[in-house]
Amino acid sequence: MTVPRFPPHSNVAIVGAGIAGATCARLLHAAGQVVRAVDKSRGAGGRMATKRLEWTDAQGATHQARLDHGAPGFAIGDRAFADFAGAALGPAGLAAWTPALKAGSRPLPEAGPLLLPQPDMPALCRALLQGIEVTWSFQVDRLLRGPGGWQLEAAGTLLPGLHDRVVLALPPAQAAPLLAPHAPAWAAQAAQAVMEPCWTLIGVAQRPARATGWDLAQPTEGPLAWVMRADARPGRAAPADEAHWVAHACPSWARTHLEQPAAWVQAQLAAALEACVGEPIAWTHATVHRWRYARPGAPRAAGDAPHWWDPALGLGVCGDFLGGAGVEDAWRSGQALSAAVLANGPRPCSNAP
Ligand SMILES: Cc1cc2nc3c(=O)[nH]c(=O)nc-3n(C[C@H](O)[C@H](O)[C@H](O)COP(=O)(O)OP(=O)(O)OC[C@H]3O[C@@H](n4cnc5c(N)ncnc54)[C@H](O)[C@@H]3O)c2cc1C
Repeated sequence: MTVPRFPPHSNVAIVGAGIAGATCARLLHAAGQVVRAVDKSRGAGGRMATKRLEWTDAQGATHQARLDHGAPGFAIGDRAFADFAGAALGPAGLAAWTPALKAGSRPLPEAGPLLLPQPDMPALCRALLQGIEVTWSFQVDRLLRGPGGWQLEAAGTLLPGLHDRVVLALPPAQAAPLLAPHAPAWAAQAAQAVMEPCWTLIGVAQRPARATGWDLAQPTEGPLAWVMRADARPGRAAPADEAHWVAHACPSWARTHLEQPAAWVQAQLAAALEACVGEPIAWTHATVHRWRYARPGAPRAAGDAPHWWDPALGLGVCGDFLGGAGVEDAWRSGQALSAAVLANGPRPCSNAP
């Protein structure tokens, strides 16, 4: 007899291990639900992302650096979120960063510091998912619903197990095709939700000859919206001769140039970064990352629910596009959906098909 590797039945399967899905999973797990999570990536975090760069120098030596290339952190808007994140990560797990802003920059939207999970951005989602069974590198492309529950399929392979309920914690364009056969009205809304793209330049260079005197710039013109000395951030120090740069293009520039070759985009953003720094940059290693769905493009209307939940189907949706615009909103959405699922009452966990 083949023994299944995973529990054959769960109360809730969560698709997506970003902050919305990880929050929902944590709260359901804490309430005694049997939770399974899956993600198409090899690890947690979603757009709370840290990229590992690796390169070989002229002498054949291999080097590595890790740079936060998605959300750079989150502001303390809702104290409850900072407390939730702090409780998951422990006392040393969240560091405050008050960047020195380049003169002439657009002001930061938030008054206080940015909070950064330690040692990297995905650490918060990893902590939230502790004790929860997660299957990585599983890109769900079909949800099947039968009398025994829901099943998840990727490229023709069914994930072993039946699930009473399914939660989609994905960007809307990725949720829409999964919703279409079961909740066409939600699928249509998700397909229409506007998400802003972003091109991000990430790289390691020699330290500038002159100290810049700032570690964050928000240019008022040109392709770049956000330029960050990543090694100035708490817990992200670089070797003394290196400067780590992360530069995000503004949404309008990224939208216009979304399908351009990466090499062309890299050249444009590197030139804009040099203009911002005011001197040539001697790159050791650099690359660009394209985010098709970086952030929601339109604010939610007042009164809109921060999640979707159909108790009869046992199907729910959460994510930043329902919660608002960023990390904290995605957390709020995942939290609200977990409460809705629990309010629906526990369903018996049975293996009957
Ligand atoms: C460049 C950039 C800058 C940002 N700046 C800020 C900022 O300054 N402040 C702020 O608050 N927010 C910022 N954000 C936005 C913030 O990162 C997001 O709002 C938040 O992380 C979204 O969380 P989520 O859980 O809703 O979605 P995600 O983090 O996108 O999580 C979705 C998960 O689903 C997985 N997935 C997708 N499709 C499938 C599938 N078919 N099967 C299985 N898994 C799947 C993905 O791999 C991912 O892990 C930024 C984002 C980017 C990209």
